[in-house]
Amino acid sequence: MKLSSKDYAAAQDVADELAGFRDEFYIQPESIYLDGNSLGLLSKRAEASLLDLLGSWKQLGIDGWTEGKNPWYYMAGRLGEKMAPLVGAEPEEVMVTGSTTANLHQMLATFYRPEGSRTKILADELNFPSDLYAIKSQIKLRGLDPQEHLVSVKSRDGHTLSEDDIITAMTGEVAVAVLPGVLYRSGQILDMERLTAAAHERGILIGFDLCHSIGSVPHALHDWNTDFAFWCTYKHLNGGPGSSGGLFVNRRLFGTEPGLAGWFGSDKEKQFDMDHVMTPAGDAAAYQVGTPNILSAAPVIGSLELFEEAGIGRIREKSLRLTDYLIGLVGELLTGYGFSIASPAGHAQRGGHVYLEHDEAARICRALKEEGVIPDFRAPKGIRLAPVALYNSFEEVRRAMLILRDIMKEERYTKFENRRGIIA
Ligand SMILES: *Cc1c(COP(=O)(O)O)cnc(C)c1O
Repeated sequence: MKLSSKDYAAAQDVADELAGFRDEFYIQPESIYLDGNSLGLLSKRAEASLLDLLGSWKQLGIDGWTEGKNPWYYMAGRLGEKMAPLVGAEPEEVMVTGSTTANLHQMLATFYRPEGSRTKILADELNFPSDLYAIKSQIKLRGLDPQEHLVSVKSRDGHTLSEDDIITAMTGEVAVAVLPGVLYRSGQILDMERLTAAAHERGILIGFDLCHSIGSVPHALHDWNTDFAFWCTYKHLNGGPGSSGGLFVNRRLFGTEPGLAGWFGSDKEKQFDMDHVMTPAGDAAAYQVGTPNILSAAPVIGSLELFEEAGIGRIREKSLRLTDYLIGLVGELLTGYGFSIASPAGHAQRGGHVYLEHDEAARICRALKEEGVIPDFRAPKGIRLAPVALYNSFEEVRRAMLILRDIMKEERYTKFENRRGIIA
């Protein structure tokens, strides 16, 4: 049977144990949303937990900090406990707080201690720009020159990184390594366990950006012995635009004085003593700064229930079947139209999205959008497609790829300019 036949996709959907979760989300009937790795869709549970939280403000006023179903004062930690299984951490090692970039700043302010000849930060040339901006500014804040103190591992093919190259760059001059769990373009998964072990053998602290891996790929940060990690909750975790980020600090490092101190990092019992000398919390809570963005964390409460029910193992399994299917359809329908697949072929290296390249990518994305398929364009010529396990179906992947084939066959993209929009 052809992969692109309706029956093939239907059989996959019938056998899909997670199919029922689609009804938990607001799906627009006229569109096929394949952009959940940039901004996940709203679920009814997330909406409910946000409305519930507004209700606690409405009814309790100031007492909402300590009363109601989700007392605000304890929310960052309680959500951290619920999120811990998604990163393979102990409950006290995770906090839902801040944002990706702010949490990276906190981690580097805390753990980047240039000393003697060990003064450099190791990153990679495919890293997300915001991470690199944060790393360079942290280097400058120490009075050092990023040109000299940022070691950037090169990619051999422009899409992926070789763990061997990264490990070769782990010299005695490197103090901290900051790497992605899943690369935001090609979707390559780095072997975080191996990299952590290699860093530690060389006296280097290591942290991972999990923005594109959390909620899509399982992790075992605690068992891998990773030092720290940080992430957002608005991509695969479906927390909504600007929803609170997360951070992980390995319990071995508890007690390290927070580089960016603020009263919400205090021991909860002491915080309201209003003492001018801070008593930091004894766990990952110490790395919070000010009053948490409660309304931006509220949708995450409902969203995490879905992950608990579905289980990250089953999510990953379906995600791989979806990306296998999408890649198979590229082979069946799009051969000869100038596409190349830049995502790793092997399951162990492939994250939750597929990255296609095409010289006309910007306007192909525009044409897809006009026809109801929501992709994600990444300059200069990338098309990211994320079939999400919790809400996308095999039939949607099939339809999306047939639409793409028709766009190519009839050159429907040529009516657009090959330029990106403001948000891409
Ligand atoms: C989405 C993303 C970010 C975004 O950072 P914010 O502070 O949440 O805006 C950072 N790094 C990576 C790798 C990302 O994918």
